[in-house]
Amino acid sequence: MTKTASRDAGRATRLVATGRDKAITGPFVNPPTVHASTVLFDSVAEMYSGEARYTYGRRGTPTINALGEAIAEMENAEGTVLCPSGLSAISTAILALASAGDHVLLPDSIYHPGRHFADTVLTRMGVEVTYYAPTIGEALAELMQANTRVVYVESPGSNTMEMQDIPAIAAVAHTRGAFVVADNTWATPIYSRPLDLGADVAVLSATKYIGGHSDLMMGTVSARGEVLSAIRRYHGAVGLCVAPDDAFLALRGLRTIEVRLARHRDSALKVAAWLEARPEVARVLHPGLESDPGHALWQRDTSGSSGLFSFVLNGGTEDDAARVLDALKLFGLGYSWGGFESLATIGSHGLTRVVSPPDAAGPIIRLHIGLEDPDDLIADLEQALANWTA
Ligand SMILES: *Cc1c(COP(=O)(O)O)cnc(C)c1O
Repeated sequence: MTKTASRDAGRATRLVATGRDKAITGPFVNPPTVHASTVLFDSVAEMYSGEARYTYGRRGTPTINALGEAIAEMENAEGTVLCPSGLSAISTAILALASAGDHVLLPDSIYHPGRHFADTVLTRMGVEVTYYAPTIGEALAELMQANTRVVYVESPGSNTMEMQDIPAIAAVAHTRGAFVVADNTWATPIYSRPLDLGADVAVLSATKYIGGHSDLMMGTVSARGEVLSAIRRYHGAVGLCVAPDDAFLALRGLRTIEVRLARHRDSALKVAAWLEARPEVARVLHPGLESDPGHALWQRDTSGSSGLFSFVLNGGTEDDAARVLDALKLFGLGYSWGGFESLATIGSHGLTRVVSPPDAAGPIIRLHIGLEDPDDLIADLEQALANWTA
């Protein structure tokens, strides 16, 4: 019998049951990893019927469909397309909806490569781009134009961690006929469902907590109804697809996301609270902390926090921050996050802000808290912060 869990079942229950259609898995627990380009048909009639379940490797395989169905279920979407990276999921969502002559509103706190995509590709294609302060809320109405087609949100924002009022922004966008695209990578569908908050599209970098092991790149775009149809048309037309081994790994990662996230959440809150009390630290940027200006929105719109947050050093330069980071022994120095291991970057390095410069007394350090013992991570930070002398 096919195992299914109703949409009323708990999230952990649905995570176990989803993406396991018996027609795909047969007697096995997991779907097979199907390596395929060509799909063979039984007859010419079937080949041209337009009704075959599989038609060509790029258009879906059992492995890819199982992952897409699982992500769609977790996002409360009607469907999900898979892209080769989170960045390609961002570009897919926007390019599926915006055309030459349209206007797009992006938060100043957007993931930086998303900004680069907008400033280079979108503008070259005749799409007008405006940045807004992430905490704008319903005052976004003042920036809406007759040709505004997409309002993008990322809550909390990259590096500076501002929460955004997605319901208020969606209400403004919808009264003016625009679509809302939300980057849900930080909270993941386990702690936040942007489509239920009013967004039309939810984008994930599955590279982060879905994969969870720093060994694959992938993005997902989830939506409902007409918006989903537009996304499927664009995704198919430009030829986007993902590799079967990566899809298998992403589905395997998804099975454990809830238990991993709980550990990331608890450890990150413990480290963040410890940092808040340190003299070397001016401010901790983590919406799960009561001191954070985004805490009320975070409490209203999400059911948890993940392992990524930032803190502001109490003065000094990026050279001072570099001395702290170079002294870390347990934290890797590297881009990305969402794997089992802890990472650190200088969050303020190369930070581009055009309308909302961060309110920071010193350099910003971004941490990803992995699955190590949090007390070991705190001890590592303590010895590293001893190198800060600003
Ligand atoms: C990493 C990241 C992305 C891009 O994902 P890739 O898989 O690295 O392309 C998008 N949004 C956010 C918030 C990210 O942190």
